[in-house]
Parts: sequence; structure tokens; C-alpha cells
Amino acid sequence: MNMKISGHVTLVGAGPGDPELLTIKAVRAIRRATVLLVDDLVGDGVLRYARRSARTVYVGKRGGCASTPQAFIERLMIAEAQRGERVVRLKGGDPFVFGRGGEEAEHLRAAGVEVEVVNGITSGLAATTALGVPWTHREHARGVMLVTGHAKEGGIAPHWPTLGAAAAQGLTLVVYMGVAQLESICDGLADALPTHTPAALVQAASTPRERRLVSTLGALVADARAAAIGSPAVLIVGDVLQGVAAAGARPDVASARQQAQR
Ligand code: SAH
Repeated sequence: MNMKISGHVTLVGAGPGDPELLTIKAVRAIRRATVLLVDDLVGDGVLRYARRSARTVYVGKRGGCASTPQAFIERLMIAEAQRGERVVRLKGGDPFVFGRGGEEAEHLRAAGVEVEVVNGITSGLAATTALGVPWTHREHARGVMLVTGHAKEGGIAPHWPTLGAAAAQGLTLVVYMGVAQLESICDGLADALPTHTPAALVQAASTPRERRLVSTLGALVADARAAAIGSPAVLIVGDVLQGVAAAGARPDVASARQQAQR
């Protein structure tokens, strides 16, 4: 017999960190939730909208714990929905841009659970905007590529020279999860792009800990090391950054913000 499941799950994009970047729809879903499953990269301010009686489960690496296995998270969501709970799965950025939202939606639907998805502002967009440039400036770019620097285990890593060639054709390249592989990414891209191509890293975009580093493809690795830029960060490569590079916003970050405020 097929029992109708009374609860449901909403995959909610929590945006890049700043709670003011939540959508109204996201806030409404968080307010309604009776159970919240919260990812690592979700800004703390976002949870202020949750009702006090809601149960909050952190499923990221907070507190130095290993991250919760994906299968456990999915089983928990299914069980809570079966108990009639209104489950909100809060994911950093947009739930459908990396971060396994697609797999979660598939598995939940296969288990007969109703799933809704609420978009969020993806961190790559917030990171580029933090530098004061668009993804697609008509004079510099005809499109944008969102790429993960971290292939699924056993999966195929991106072929960076090919992506570099596409960037040379006027596509802004935005790389998520690329900090650990920065050197090999930049080396691969440099097979197809001049080393003076503007390249930037933005760490913790839209949060009080935000740091921005604008450099070139040839110098980024050394500059990132010197500025100790770490995860979570987005790498942006392309001529849309020309304006910021020319304004001399490198290497930091703090100084770039001070310059902007002057
Ligand atoms: N769904 C998320 C991405 C999840 S993958 C989104 O749409 O943004 C995790 C990666 O996102 C991190 O490795 C980092 O590259 C990026 N990221 C997430 N939050 C970030 C932030 N506030 N600033 C910079 N990069 C961030």
C-alpha cells in the first residue's frame, strides 16, 4: 500500500552568508520549518528566522566533527517527512549549484517525499559582485562558466586548458571548491591563456570575514599564499576583472575595501 507522506522537505538556498541576501521565500520556509538541517556554509544570521520550537540539526563539519554522511542526511530527511514534519534543508548559496542538492531531491522524490526547491544567491555570483564587476560585461564577456575544482571521487577532473580556451573566447570562469587545487588549475589554464589574464579569489564573500585578492593568472598562487587565502573561496578568471586589476586592488583585500570606502 502506498501511504501518503504528510510532511515535506524544502531545499532552501541560504545564500552566500549575509542574511539580507536571503529571498523572501527562503525566510518564509525557514519560519515555517519544524526541523532544520543546516549545512556548513550557512551563515549564522540565517537561523534567526527559525522558530524557537524548531529542531536544528547541524550536518556540516562544525565543531571539528567529520561531516555527516550524505546517506544519513537523506535518511533523516525522509524519516522526518514521514513523521509529518516540515523539514527545511538549508544549503549554502543555491541548493542546485554544486553541493549535492540535485542528488538529495532525486532521492527524496524516489522515497515518495514531496520536495520543493527555493533558489538562493550562489556564492560565485556574490563573490564576483564583491569585486564590483558583473559576470557578463558586454565589452568583456559573452557568458559565464561555473565549474567545480573538486571532481567527484573517481570522477573526471575538468580539463583546465580547454576551459582556459573557452575563457579566451569571452566566457568568465568561476571555480568553486578550487582552493586546494589552485596551482594545478592555474597551470592548466595558463596553457590556453596569457599569464597576465586577470584572476581573483574571494573568500567568505558577503560575510564580515570577506577577503578579496585580485591578481593575474601567473601570480595568483604566490599572492594567495602570501595573503593566506583559504576556503571557502571562489576563483574568478577573465577580462571582466580588468577594471579592478587596473585599479590596483591587489593584493588585499582589507586594503581594497578601505580604498573603496575612501
Ligand atoms: N551551493 C553553493 C556551493 C556549494 S560548494 C553555492 O551555490 O554557493 C562549496 C563551495 O562554494 C566552496 O568550496 C566555495 O568555493 C564556495 N563558497 C560557498 N560559500 C562561499 C562564500 N561565502 N564565499 C566564497 N566562496 C564560497
